[in-house]
Amino acid sequence: MKQIIFILFSFLFVNTYSQDTTYARQVIKKLTSKELLGRGYVNDGVNKAASYISKELKTIGLSKFEKSYSQYYEFPVNTFPRTMSVVLDGKTLIAGKHYLIYPSAETIKGGFQLFKTDSVTYEANDGKRPFPIKVKLRKKLTYTVATQISDNAVIELLKDSFPNELKTIDVIFKNKFIPIFKCQNLCGFIKGTQQPDSFIVFTAHYDHLGAMGKEAYFPGANDNASGVSVLLNLAKYYKTHPSKYSIAFIFFSGEEAGLLGSKYYSEHPIFPLSKIKFLTNLDLLGTGDDGIMVVNATIFKEQFEKLNQINIEKNYLKQIKQRGKAANSDHYWFSEKGVPSFFIYTMGGVTAYHDIYDIEKTLPLTKYLEVCKLLIEFNAKF
Ligand SMILES: [Zn+2]
Repeated sequence: MKQIIFILFSFLFVNTYSQDTTYARQVIKKLTSKELLGRGYVNDGVNKAASYISKELKTIGLSKFEKSYSQYYEFPVNTFPRTMSVVLDGKTLIAGKHYLIYPSAETIKGGFQLFKTDSVTYEANDGKRPFPIKVKLRKKLTYTVATQISDNAVIELLKDSFPNELKTIDVIFKNKFIPIFKCQNLCGFIKGTQQPDSFIVFTAHYDHLGAMGKEAYFPGANDNASGVSVLLNLAKYYKTHPSKYSIAFIFFSGEEAGLLGSKYYSEHPIFPLSKIKFLTNLDLLGTGDDGIMVVNATIFKEQFEKLNQINIEKNYLKQIKQRGKAANSDHYWFSEKGVPSFFIYTMGGVTAYHDIYDIEKTLPLTKYLEVCKLLIEFNAKF
């Protein structure tokens, strides 16, 4: 009986990535949970996410380069950890759904008259600050992270929710600027069978935008709990199917704050960058309805041809589109330093991006398994 259970267990384990997306869902659910608060800076959400990923790496059995999987570094960040409130013409608004405060803003408190300056802008001038507070109507609310504060206080409102002329606004926003926020990248590997000193590398950022006040947090299911889950799935796969080269997995933080974790790593690599055969950065891996995009495809043409050829033969994805270089995710510092690398993201499926609607429940994972297979087959070509 024990033997049968063991065989059955091994079979399921080996085939996890190819059988279903159960483990992916489990990882994405955990990373998008309220407990991790959008993997940002309020309540140390990003470091709680790091603890969870470290535990998974240990369970899977990844080797460490150093004593732990963690590489620490730091940067400044502005946060809004306290309760916030916006009352617009007597109506209490919902954070994230109706409004956002610019992440670089300082504390604002008070009631203001609004004056329209153009079709989408109002100004509230209390005479106490160098610039008036601005209220801007947006088609979509898209949040970011600020590593510094600015005088420029802007409250963004969802345009469709407020069709009428606006008159007054009452707000409470209390910022907390953290000059030194300690963050970490995580890195583990599976030793190669023939040339263990050479590496195939997979990277994904695990941080997101965190929380805005006590009322709203940004789950970041597609961006980038999805990519993290792919890395963990690939780690499981390679643990039982080791390759000729060592396979390294790097989980970056600080991406949403300006690619800070990957920048730090590329300047303080744990193993020589020259030993990287190829690096694939994965960010936004939760859809695939319209195929995938490959950034750096026009720079690394030969590698792109290989990737495309596999897809033509196996018909995994509707299309693989190509782009040139772009500083839009963590691959950037590596290709700038001459490391052959792609950044791959999936296309179609959902429109939620940098907002409160990027949740696990609506993330389709349409071509999740196909992308995993494509990545494994592509990296076997080196
Ligand atoms: Zn991202």
